[in-house]
Amino acid sequence: MQLTMHNVLPNYLQPTPKERVSAIWGNTVSIQQGDLVSVQAPSGAGKTTFVQLLYGLRKDYTGTALWDNLAPNTTDEEALAALRTNNVSIVFQDLRLFGELTAMENIEIKRCQTNTTSTATAHEYLQRLGMSHKIDAKADTLSYGERQRIAIIRALMQPFNWLLMDEPFSHLDNSNRQKAIELIGEIVHARKAGMILADLNANNYFAYTQTLIM
Ligand code: ADP
Repeated sequence: MQLTMHNVLPNYLQPTPKERVSAIWGNTVSIQQGDLVSVQAPSGAGKTTFVQLLYGLRKDYTGTALWDNLAPNTTDEEALAALRTNNVSIVFQDLRLFGELTAMENIEIKRCQTNTTSTATAHEYLQRLGMSHKIDAKADTLSYGERQRIAIIRALMQPFNWLLMDEPFSHLDNSNRQKAIELIGEIVHARKAGMILADLNANNYFAYTQTLIM
């Protein structure tokens, strides 16, 4: 599954000089499955907008974005749901956990949607990210960094060709970030998936094949 973009520009950005120097806005982007892409931009440049439009959550833009032949802004809800269930997984910047549910319940809801991973695998990932002792804690009671790790595990519970991540490690210390990087890297590699990681700064979290400065 390939991502191509041509002349994409969020409506709220038009017309600003910023777009002329962006590798994404108003530009042509071509990303192959298996690519590991770093998207870098300061706060307010549109990282979240970019990730959300790829996921079909924002349609307020001009230009063309395509997952193979599927345009997330014009396709029907059914095709969009199938894309999100089978092809594109995401770690939202704001995580989007169910606060009243426990960490494990949050993971199980996602896992049971496709049943392509086991509860034992969920426990293994929890253990690897140092979250086993928090499985019965309500998401609302977890620290942001703990919730970030639950959101990452949720994203890994479903099938995907692409993993989108919006500042996924912002509240993790070096040690926990490294554990998350190793787990994500293994799974993305095993699935021959592509990854788009948006972050504020240049980073070497993964062996990126492309860097796009927004
Ligand atoms: P980032 O993730 O890089 O911080 P965002 O994608 O969240 O950036 O937003 C980019 C900028 O555009 C922000 O300043 C935001 O307030 C603004 N913005 C986002 N959506 C709209 C909108 N619909 N109308 C006006 N401004 C918007």
